[in-house]
Amino acid sequence: MIDEKEKSIADLYKDLKVEKDEDDYLLAFSDDPRKVALYNKIMSYPNLEQHRAQITMVDCRWCLRENIKDEPIEMDDHENGWRVLRKSKRQWLWITCPGCNYQWALWKMGCGQRWHELRKEA
Ligand SMILES: [Zn+2]
Repeated sequence: MIDEKEKSIADLYKDLKVEKDEDDYLLAFSDDPRKVALYNKIMSYPNLEQHRAQITMVDCRWCLRENIKDEPIEMDDHENGWRVLRKSKRQWLWITCPGCNYQWALWKMGCGQRWHELRKEA
């Protein structure tokens, strides 16, 4: 059985029409109501800046480089990762310290996975 929520985003968009309404909200249209539901779910996931806002470890604990919290957040598909806006698959999130190249998983930096725990589907 195909897990509907893990289908690729490209496949999702193939026959999905997305328009903005007068209040700038994105509305999805499709002959397949499951695609509309999936799109709406994916668009409700937190974005990377909302995940970054959960970080409590500002400086690198290894090399003491300051403000690595503000470095780019990298990501890759990972089944135990976080839910991320516009990604149908869960994403592993990390920040690479420019001082020592240590890859800090966001949970090690204090960013719990409560966002996607809160949004776990029934
Ligand atoms: Zn470092």
